[in-house]
Amino acid sequence: MTNQLSLAQGREYLAIPGPSVMPDAVLQAMHRPSPNIYDGELVDMMPALLQDLRRVARTEHNVAIYIANGHGTWEAALSNVIAPGETVLAPASGRFTHGWAEMAEGIGAQAQLIDFGTSAAWDFDKIADVLRADTDHKIKGVLAVHVDTSSSIRNDISGLRALLDDLNHPALLMADCIASLGCDRFEMDAWGVDVTVTACQKGLMTPAGMGFVFFNEKAQVKRAAMPRVSQYWDWQPRANPELFYQHFNGTAPTHHLYGLRTALDLIHAEGIEAVWARHERLACAIWAACEVWTQGGALEFNVADPAHRSHAVTALRLTEGRGTPLRNYTENTLGLTLGIGLGMEDWDGCFRLGHMGHLNAQMIMAMLGGIETAMAALDIPRGQGALEAAAATLAKSP
Ligand SMILES: *Cc1c(COP(=O)(O)O)cnc(C)c1O
Repeated sequence: MTNQLSLAQGREYLAIPGPSVMPDAVLQAMHRPSPNIYDGELVDMMPALLQDLRRVARTEHNVAIYIANGHGTWEAALSNVIAPGETVLAPASGRFTHGWAEMAEGIGAQAQLIDFGTSAAWDFDKIADVLRADTDHKIKGVLAVHVDTSSSIRNDISGLRALLDDLNHPALLMADCIASLGCDRFEMDAWGVDVTVTACQKGLMTPAGMGFVFFNEKAQVKRAAMPRVSQYWDWQPRANPELFYQHFNGTAPTHHLYGLRTALDLIHAEGIEAVWARHERLACAIWAACEVWTQGGALEFNVADPAHRSHAVTALRLTEGRGTPLRNYTENTLGLTLGIGLGMEDWDGCFRLGHMGHLNAQMIMAMLGGIETAMAALDIPRGQGALEAAAATLAKSP
């Protein structure tokens, strides 16, 4: 392929599972001089911004903003409710749960992991066994990753809430919806989530660098009982500031806030239910194409059951380590960047399609066309008619 003519000039398409494609309107909103951080527009826009953030997470509870990525919000959430020596339970369907559990160990907690591997959703019977055995309630929080972006598994958060309630277990339900917020349905209050962590660069379509922790009264009670909370991570002044700068424990992330303001306007103009429905429809088109390709015997879904697949990301595997060559081809020759495999044994075989955020049907058809082209160029065996199958899915009336 070394002599392949590059066709990559033009507007490139980053189809990785975060950061996601950003709307031009978000970028334009950020292209401006620094505002006053003590008075005026930036200060005035905060109450509505926080309310619109709550609407996306489907909560009436508190929200604290951090100048941090998702990893920062992991530590922020833990720091407020888990004291050194306390235990958290981490049911893992992929790499990200392990990461959050390791961070809990880093702040002095014990992380009890239940590893479901990289292709399976939670098994509630196994989780129930562990919770039942915890008779003196050593487990103070359950680290629940809604969509594990490495495996593309979507877990049942409300089912976990029901299990905790059935067993009368008082642990906080702590959800990571970093990949799913604004893509897959997520309902913090209706699902009984106590603490939600998320970040701005996936479904929220804003450059990486800002994260959010939502928390309810039950979590606030645990926070109040903590022996100490490091000042920078403390969510209390951030969520209930007397002065504007306390929202951020210092200078506000000025331009991110303008970008986010515009992204939230776009989400709410479309309507969050419509945003979820769009992601679902686009994901179904992608899966229809992949299903056809799998008939050639080289391509495989990481998650066999569509009911456990996220609408934001799809993890796939090609035999003979052909995932990396496929990605290299689409990026270098076509201007289409696909996601690397993450946390999988077969590094070169695995790859991921990011389909989160500011995406429409023609972009998805272009991504699928790019993959079809790469498969043709690399002689990868595949079923014929993948794009037709995707088009038929999109053309169906809802
Ligand atoms: C992206 C992601 C993270 C990590 O976020 P960073 O901003 O990269 O630190 C954590 N959890 C999930 C589910 C994610 O998708």
